Amino acid sequence: MRKIIHLDMDCFYAAVEMREHPELAGQPLAVGGGSRRGVVTTCNYEARKFGVHSAMPGFQARQRCPNLIFLPPRFELYRAESQKVRAILRAYTPLVEPLSLDEAYLDVTASPRYAWDIAKEIRARIFAETRLTGSAGIAPNKMLAKIASDWRKPNGQFAITPEQIDAFVRELPVRKIWGVGPKSAERFAAEGVKTCADLQQLTLAELARRHGKWGHELYRLCRGEDDRPVEPDRVRKSLSNERTYSENLTTLDACQAALTELVEELFEELRTKAADRQVRKAVVKVKFADFTRTTKECVSATPDLATYQALLTEARLRKQQPIRLLGAGVRFTEEEDEPQDDPQQQLAFSL
Ligand SMILES: [Mg+2]
Repeated sequence: MRKIIHLDMDCFYAAVEMREHPELAGQPLAVGGGSRRGVVTTCNYEARKFGVHSAMPGFQARQRCPNLIFLPPRFELYRAESQKVRAILRAYTPLVEPLSLDEAYLDVTASPRYAWDIAKEIRARIFAETRLTGSAGIAPNKMLAKIASDWRKPNGQFAITPEQIDAFVRELPVRKIWGVGPKSAERFAAEGVKTCADLQQLTLAELARRHGKWGHELYRLCRGEDDRPVEPDRVRKSLSNERTYSENLTTLDACQAALTELVEELFEELRTKAADRQVRKAVVKVKFADFTRTTKECVSATPDLATYQALLTEARLRKQQPIRLLGAGVRFTEEEDEPQDDPQQQLAFSL
């Protein structure tokens, strides 16, 4: 039986800003909102009382909370704080898997100590060194640990012991299952499947018939079973987004429209999944109607839509052909203190 801790810093970016601006204590505060697309990246608990939450458009947040103070994000600063937190985590186990700037899994199975005590000590050390709070979930697997870290937020921790899994999971909304998004949760709800207990009524054969391979995973996850290991070496070298079009893109307008959509999604993913990484290059990938492909990239730490449009224009010059696939991505600078050779990650972005 594993001992997994999921550590999640409390409204991380907003908490760092509150620490840096003591004069704003007690006021509703949001990080983000300043860019063209303007969304709340993180907000503090004072702002949450007004119904403001992350990913909410800035104008809507202002409607709900007229006194909301917006601050532009300072990722350099958040990255530096995140490095301090990670250094503390690594003092307890080499098995640390960061999920984002403010979240990580730890596998402390090898420690003779209670995971509960380790989590408590880690949170105290983080606070002593950074004046920031985090919450922890403790469970025999990753899925349950991540759910548990939400239970006593902010500045708390919650454990699910092996004996408690059955009862805990039965009550759990299907949406909380790792990998179940809002759309599939809606579809399940339409069939009267709301909790994991409801989902457990479906046989493995039924789930597999409806969801294929994912059905097998669902069968296990809704019973609180998850054997994904904590993977410490997963350092992303790149992030990309691509799409094959059912009808080839033939005009410049169609290409630019498709590219705009891809790039916006890419930026959204960068913001949520890789805010702690430094972008080094922008990449555009094109597959033509005759299945030949080409890649164009340029060095840029802060690529914007215009960067991608220029790359696409260049790529299209290679061949006068309709386009069947477009991709937009970034390559990150590689951190020296992290392992760098991960052939699988390279394959995932083989351009
Ligand atoms: Mg967090």
